[in-house]
Amino acid sequence: MITLVRRVAAACVLGAALAACGTAPVPQRAERPPARPSAAPSRPPTLAPGPAGLTPVFRNGPRHTPAKTVALTFDADMTAGQGERAARGERFDNPRLIGTLRALKVPATVFMTGRWAEEYPAQARSIGRDPLFEVANHSYSHYAFTDDCYGLPTIDDSQARMRADVERAFAAFRAVGVDHAMPYFRFPGGCYDRRALRALSATGVTAVQWDVVGGDAFATDADAVAREVLAGVRPGSVVVLHCTSSAAPATERAVRAVVPVLRERGFRFVKVSELIGATGDRR
Ligand SMILES: [Zn+2]
Repeated sequence: MITLVRRVAAACVLGAALAACGTAPVPQRAERPPARPSAAPSRPPTLAPGPAGLTPVFRNGPRHTPAKTVALTFDADMTAGQGERAARGERFDNPRLIGTLRALKVPATVFMTGRWAEEYPAQARSIGRDPLFEVANHSYSHYAFTDDCYGLPTIDDSQARMRADVERAFAAFRAVGVDHAMPYFRFPGGCYDRRALRALSATGVTAVQWDVVGGDAFATDADAVAREVLAGVRPGSVVVLHCTSSAAPATERAVRAVVPVLRERGFRFVKVSELIGATGDRR
């Protein structure tokens, strides 16, 4: 499984370089506006823990359903050490992509690092408060949770630190006004093992992998990315893409190509929570 995970994960990682995801390039404010009154959200669906209480891992939704659904997911990567690059003007966000998803009314799940939320607080808040999207956890630092994960720096060797990194991301989301981040976690690089799953069991998250790799990291050919996605999607698929103009510059164009074709094939775009909610082994 790990082998598969690692092969598939190649697109996600690509070193610490992969960056982030965003919305409109609005002025960034660190302070938090007053909370909007809203009804208490219902508890998001999660999977039941795995054997020995391990963090459950979700890869795709049910294949045989009356209606065909697919979830596009976008990793908003920013590594803890990339602040200087951002300060020099490198863009770890991709406002155009988020704008396109909104224009096309495509729901999506954004796996955001805590560091990214700190860099782009207004965008994080905007995504987090838009019912079209859901924000999920992609760690605070984007450090790997296993050794030998595509050259990513590895998180310190203790399970407590792994857990702390995940909790720190949730805290970063809350600090910028993302009040209802989903209890879903995507391992940086998709790299995990039993130890990592054990480390996160107390957090209550469901780990979310994928079954379709868009291959958009460092890709410049949007048509090639679109072909990969279209060739891979089946009912219940989870597609991994990225939301960073610096490290995944073709993604927005690929999305524009993919969305009408999948709709023509009868697919409905959903968020990961809907796929998890449709599985039989929910908590
Ligand atoms: Zn990532």
